[in-house]
Amino acid sequence: MKKTWLSFGLICLAALLLAGCDTVHVVLSSEPGQAAELIGAGAYTQGQEATVSAMPEPGWEFVSWTQGGQVVSETSDFTFVVRRKTKLTANLRPLEYAVSALAQGQGDFLYSQEPARHGSEYTITAVPERGYRFVCWTEQGEVVSTEAEYTFTAAGHRDLTAMFLPEDYKVDLEIEEGGQVAETWTLLPAAQVTLEAIPREGYEFFGWVDLQTQQEVATQEEYSFICEERRSILARFRKELVPADGSSLKAVVGKQTTIGEYAPADLVELPSHLSVKKRRVRSQVADALEIMAQAAQAEGAKLNVDSGYRSYSTQHNLFYRYAKRDGVLAAERYSARPGQSEHQLGTAVDFGGTNRDYSDGFADTSQGKWLLANAYKFGFALSYPRGSEEITGYKYEPWHYRYIGVELAQEWKESGLTLIEFLQMKNQAD
Ligand SMILES: [Zn+2]
Repeated sequence: MKKTWLSFGLICLAALLLAGCDTVHVVLSSEPGQAAELIGAGAYTQGQEATVSAMPEPGWEFVSWTQGGQVVSETSDFTFVVRRKTKLTANLRPLEYAVSALAQGQGDFLYSQEPARHGSEYTITAVPERGYRFVCWTEQGEVVSTEAEYTFTAAGHRDLTAMFLPEDYKVDLEIEEGGQVAETWTLLPAAQVTLEAIPREGYEFFGWVDLQTQQEVATQEEYSFICEERRSILARFRKELVPADGSSLKAVVGKQTTIGEYAPADLVELPSHLSVKKRRVRSQVADALEIMAQAAQAEGAKLNVDSGYRSYSTQHNLFYRYAKRDGVLAAERYSARPGQSEHQLGTAVDFGGTNRDYSDGFADTSQGKWLLANAYKFGFALSYPRGSEEITGYKYEPWHYRYIGVELAQEWKESGLTLIEFLQMKNQAD
């Protein structure tokens, strides 16, 4: 190369001596600017051969080289002999892309039939036929938009499919606070919908409820089903459960806490004079019940424990039995989920054996009246008083008492708080 230049230099020198040697410039530009990388501009010797090239930037294609408005080449590499100062323009145009749309189900499209120019905004609108509704745009099996009017910036060919479903193939979603739900459909071989629950930070998902049947239909975050009718589904979220120590008399047991599969180690069976069904409770609770029952008897009330300790699995079965019978949302108002029942502590009891068991009317029985007035003196607190469902999550249960110890029960009574509020306060103070 150097040699060549050197020889050119010598020739030039010779030419200069003979006829005068001129350096001439080749000036390059592109239209539009920045649409191509240009090579070959610079100083040349008159009569020298020059090759210029235009390399289009992504999204552009080469059209021609022009000089003073005249096309001088239609190839991007252009070779010529430089005779004088030369200004060349590389002309480019944006790439154009094909946009095709296909309907799954019954529907049509609104879009300009023109190809999409690179970098331009392109809008295509899906229009369902009567009796159908638009679901989403997909491309190669992926959902790209759930808006019927889909606008994108053209950067390649598009092969879009709009999904239309009969109007009755629909999921009406209700979503509890604490998360969101992504809904995707496939139509073949059947209309199948997949719901995915996405909890927010600090929250967890805990089940899908069919609002027509009121049944919990799935507990996994992802739930798929064939949908050939309208369905109403509730996505349930709750604050992440706080673990509580089930062995503590002060354990906070409610809908925002869990004692897991805790089981007490000191369960004893109650004698039949305290519990016809010989229910089990923790030993110190059995002792307290004995003392309280004697005091009650002296005042003409006969106490009887109808339900005591319930294991995690017993509570599981019980909850789902109620849920099946009354619906899961209704069951939650009176029955705890496993890990969230005070009965699992071995310190909670349901009094009964009357003809008004497990009803508001229990409050008017001799047991109900005596317990309301006196139980706290023996260490028992009424967990779910009338009118506190907003706080406790449970409706009024005049039969359900929990042992927290005589001293704490006195303090609780004086506080005027519901039991769970009181225990939350005590646990925070520790
Ligand atoms: Zn109970």
